[in-house]
Amino acid sequence: MLLSCTDVRKVFGDHVVLDDLSLDVAEHEVVALIGASGSGKSTLLRCVNLLAEIDDGTIRLDGEEITDPRINADLVRRKIGLVFQSYNLFPHMTVLDNITLAPTRVHRRAADETRAQAMTWLERLGLADKARTYPDRLSGGQQQRVAIVRALVNSPRLLLLDEVTSALDPELVGEVLTMIRDLKSEGMTMVLATHEMGFAKQVADRVAFLHAGKVLEQGPPEQVLGDPTEPRTRQFLSRII
Ligand code: ADP
Ligand code: MG
Repeated sequence: MLLSCTDVRKVFGDHVVLDDLSLDVAEHEVVALIGASGSGKSTLLRCVNLLAEIDDGTIRLDGEEITDPRINADLVRRKIGLVFQSYNLFPHMTVLDNITLAPTRVHRRAADETRAQAMTWLERLGLADKARTYPDRLSGGQQQRVAIVRALVNSPRLLLLDEVTSALDPELVGEVLTMIRDLKSEGMTMVLATHEMGFAKQVADRVAFLHAGKVLEQGPPEQVLGDPTEPRTRQFLSRII
């Protein structure tokens, strides 16, 4: 397994958000996390990225326990890209500078190498002509695609996507979904939280339904979305469709 979350517990005050949750993700696999708002999807992704500390359990990446307190969190985050709903590009910096800022400043990688890598990704994803453009000249869909490139520039082993199409106008969603599909065909391992069941069905190898702090049901999209076993999953799906 590339990612193994085992009995992960996350508590805010007396609110148990992740209740001994376990989830495994194989290399090259795409897993969609679904579940009601507040079910803990974002919290789980933040814990995997070490932006939030877990209260119990373990998270392993490539067999290494990344939740070990002695681990270097910056090194782990280089291996795990995270993209949020709000793309948060710096408005006063070009696309290229936005992408290369963290690798060169935080991770102290050589600027030349990082810029070359950024350009390669921009070319592969059809954004090369935007490298010197400022974010406010881009559509929301293009900005989100740049934010995804920013997460790719460290060549992560795993990409986490948290509702990356939620802030976009409907007509811009398609280009971001296409990019995610392209990444899948390149073999990128991804965990994506989404409320777009149609997309989950198209791109995910497996869908995991989060409820009450656990993965209540998981399996192939056709099964979980089309013929769920758990009444709770059925209830959730009937409410959103
Ligand atoms: P989802 O992404 O599935 O909508 P979240 O992971 O954002 O769910 O939230 C799960 C629960 O954890 C919610 O009840 C939310 O209010 C709570 N929560 C998330 N972050 C914090 C925080 N920093 N402090 C307190 N409660 C939080
Ligand atoms: Mg969320």
